[in-house]
Amino acid sequence: MALSRIKGQDHAVGLLRSAFEADRLSHAYLMHGPEGVGKETTALELAQGLNCEAEGLEACGSCRACTMAGRLAHPDIHLLFPAPRDLKAEARAEILASYQRDGYREEDYGRKTAIISVESVLSEVVAGANQRPYVGPWKIFVIADADRMTDEAANTLLKTLEEPPEGTVIALTTSRPSALPATVVSRCQKIPFSRLPADVIEEILLADSRLGFDERRAKAAAALAQGSAGLAVRTQKEGLEAELGKIASLMQGKSVRGVRSLVEEAETLAFRLGRREQVKVLDLMLLWLRDVLVLSEVSASNRTKALLYGKHRRALESQASALDFATIEGLIEKVDGARMAIERYSNPSIVFTSVLLDMAVARKRASTRRDGEHAA
Ligand SMILES: [Zn+2]
Repeated sequence: MALSRIKGQDHAVGLLRSAFEADRLSHAYLMHGPEGVGKETTALELAQGLNCEAEGLEACGSCRACTMAGRLAHPDIHLLFPAPRDLKAEARAEILASYQRDGYREEDYGRKTAIISVESVLSEVVAGANQRPYVGPWKIFVIADADRMTDEAANTLLKTLEEPPEGTVIALTTSRPSALPATVVSRCQKIPFSRLPADVIEEILLADSRLGFDERRAKAAAALAQGSAGLAVRTQKEGLEAELGKIASLMQGKSVRGVRSLVEEAETLAFRLGRREQVKVLDLMLLWLRDVLVLSEVSASNRTKALLYGKHRRALESQASALDFATIEGLIEKVDGARMAIERYSNPSIVFTSVLLDMAVARKRASTRRDGEHAA
């Protein structure tokens, strides 16, 4: 890999290239944008390109520095990432290896909190920055998901950001720049990353045969992924159709037989899934409602549009005819709000109970109305 192979982020890569060409690389970058769009990969490519023995910023991929960087074993390239405090050394090594193997990946530790500790900032960044490069000329520190630094870790990093030693580049990545202390943000040059167009995601998914996509699945996963190749990869791993089947039955209230079972279903979502998985469930619920919305509009062109939940077309059609437009829109808003609430760490049990209840009420009203019409 080299910087030129980063897909769909021409603006971000262009900023880095022109800074390098003008000999004005910043000591600190904040690469911000949605999850799974290539921020860490870009930071690591920058690190490899800077240390490559060939001229310019494009890594040759075959020199000694590139070989070491490719295995993340270059002594001047450091990668920090959030992890639970009790993560075992082997697990850490495995994650480190997968950053290199599979750039569009995300770790989900379920309900364990993953943090970047002050100890790791001290031992990797502070100590490393104060040494001369081993192989040189650059020392690069990539801090992935930097918003997960503890306050103490951020404060410690701040000192290095204030007086960066010569030849040091610190690249922070984050999908939540507002969660970083303003003092840290103000010392970094910002590099914005954008959501990836679906066709670019498709291309990324198909380019790597190890990911196991065929064209149909790549298209479906890309459509689902909302601009994030990382999300698309995760969806595939977890079994796309099975996933869609589960959401379809959830949206039809198949296992709901009353308030008690509804609460149980909400609790399962709240307590068995990690936060990222919960967001994904809500995303898939939204996409179900979008399909219903498409079918509820009478125009013929809409009726032939490809649906994500195509296999469940009958159920979609029955909801589309039973629910009126305003109700579907109301549900979309509700699920969207729930998604934001989960991202802001609201109580997932309350969020899911409320969403499932709204769905159930809408279905109930629709069926009562339908029965009323039949009676009349
Ligand atoms: Zn090289």
